Amino acid sequence: MEKASVSLTIKFLLLQCLFALSIAQDFDFFYFVQQWPGSYCDTKKSCCYPTTGKPAADFGIHGLWPNYKDGSYPSNCDPSNAYDESKIPDLISLMQQDWATLACPSNSGSAFWSHEWNKHGTCSESNLDQHGYFKAALNLKSKVDLLQILQSGGINPDGGSYSLSNIKSTISNAIGYDPWIECNSDADGNRQLYQIYLCVDTSGSDLIACPSFPRGKCAPNIQFPSF
Ligand code: 5GP
Ligand code: 5GP
Repeated sequence: MEKASVSLTIKFLLLQCLFALSIAQDFDFFYFVQQWPGSYCDTKKSCCYPTTGKPAADFGIHGLWPNYKDGSYPSNCDPSNAYDESKIPDLISLMQQDWATLACPSNSGSAFWSHEWNKHGTCSESNLDQHGYFKAALNLKSKVDLLQILQSGGINPDGGSYSLSNIKSTISNAIGYDPWIECNSDADGNRQLYQIYLCVDTSGSDLIACPSFPRGKCAPNIQFPSF
């Protein structure tokens, strides 16, 4: 090949690389994860209520987690864009209500929110800035009322035992997509409904069918503790 055409070929390849980078997907979808406070608090480890008081007996947001289809996920993507509460003053009171922390020691919630943004949120910052990220999670929570869905199917947080398949189909029938259920164990070792995962498109606004599900086992029948 002549020099000129070699240099043209190199330029063409470089351009292709740049193009590939510019359309590169940071991630494939989000898991929107909500936790049942009763199942966090009745464990051996127990819990601490936030300084703002005991949260409502409702599912609370745990996080909005960027994921890849193969089940792996990015984390802590941009240390230079650390959590900054001054970017979300208008969202704090709703976050105290819908994204309550139950970890000890008791705090307002900033430790939880900051962990979630730094670990997960920074991996979706090409689509959502900090305000957009927290707002997207709050909007999703207000769109899907999991407790109401379960209760209208006769599944109540009353310490009773419910079949996992009934819990799953009640949610699928209501929202049109299969959820993923994560269980944990109470202080006596009983398996119980801990977290519910729904999948969301990369804009953070619409539910989608899950491209892949996490791993882990519940039991055929699980408890739904009160809070
Ligand atoms: P665990 O080990 O309790 O299931 O998860 C611990 C933490 O790892 C979660 O709170 C979350 O931050 C992260 N994690 C676990 N599974 C997933 C996943 O499938 N996707 C993402 N993005 N994060 C996960
Ligand atoms: P993950 O990496 O599991 O998303 O985040 C869990 C981290 O958030 C842990 O360090 C945990 O102590 C903290 N955290 C604070 N409040 C809560 C809460 O209410 N639920 C859960 N699951 N983790 C919380």
